[in-house]
Amino acid sequence: MNPRMLPEINEALCTGCGECVSVCVPHALALTAGKAVMARPDLCAYGGSCEPICPVGAIQLPYQVLFDPHPAVSERGRA
Ligand code: SF4
Repeated sequence: MNPRMLPEINEALCTGCGECVSVCVPHALALTAGKAVMARPDLCAYGGSCEPICPVGAIQLPYQVLFDPHPAVSERGRA
């Protein structure tokens, strides 16, 4: 399991087409030896562009990001 939320890349499926690298706005992904790699995990914003663009399903975002619509209420509840 990733120490933080990061896309998971299946190296066996990756064809090295570079589509995910092209759409990665923060430039966290790169191609190395013909495969996509998470070159800069510190830059990954978990934006989700990479997963749907991969033509072979080699990259997945296994975590769902949820936003609390009432954060102030939740914080008061915890106080
Ligand atoms: S889009 Fe998919 S096949 Fe293409 S480089 Fe990225 S992970 Fe590999």
